[in-house]
Amino acid sequence: MLAALLLWALLLQPDVDANKLLPGLLITAVGVFAWLKFRARMDQKLSKNFTLDEFKSKDGAPTPPEVLENLRELAKNLQVLRDYLGKPIKINSGYRSPAHNAKVKGAKNSMHVKGKAADIVVQGYTPTQLAAVIFKLIEEKKIRQGGVGIYPTFVHYDTRGTKARW
Ligand SMILES: [Zn+2]
Repeated sequence: MLAALLLWALLLQPDVDANKLLPGLLITAVGVFAWLKFRARMDQKLSKNFTLDEFKSKDGAPTPPEVLENLRELAKNLQVLRDYLGKPIKINSGYRSPAHNAKVKGAKNSMHVKGKAADIVVQGYTPTQLAAVIFKLIEEKKIRQGGVGIYPTFVHYDTRGTKARW
């Protein structure tokens, strides 16, 4: 970054004196910093209302690139659900690293390990009510066909592409 600033200074301001150069450099530095922060924030965003942080493996394991792609697809579908409900969706569990999945005794071929599944809660909806909305949106082809599991306190939804219910 410093090199870029110096280059900028040399190319654009070849014969300006140091007193004028410094403010220019500072303004550019602030601009570059703001741009980098903005970029980092955009990288974090999976959809309008979902960020990568919400889906990260709870053991702090990094998110592999292919998992990130699947999470974007998952978030895109969850965004449709969120827009339909007009309410925030809490992600109890999104991506699980293989190690974390083993620790929580998840299924061996869990869609969570692929970044294709989320266990979700929406305030004001029982899991049965929430699942009913998901079924409706799948039927209307507004969200992707996949797995839907109704649990006592949450609903599992995944984007595997084929129908699975439990
Ligand atoms: Zn699940």
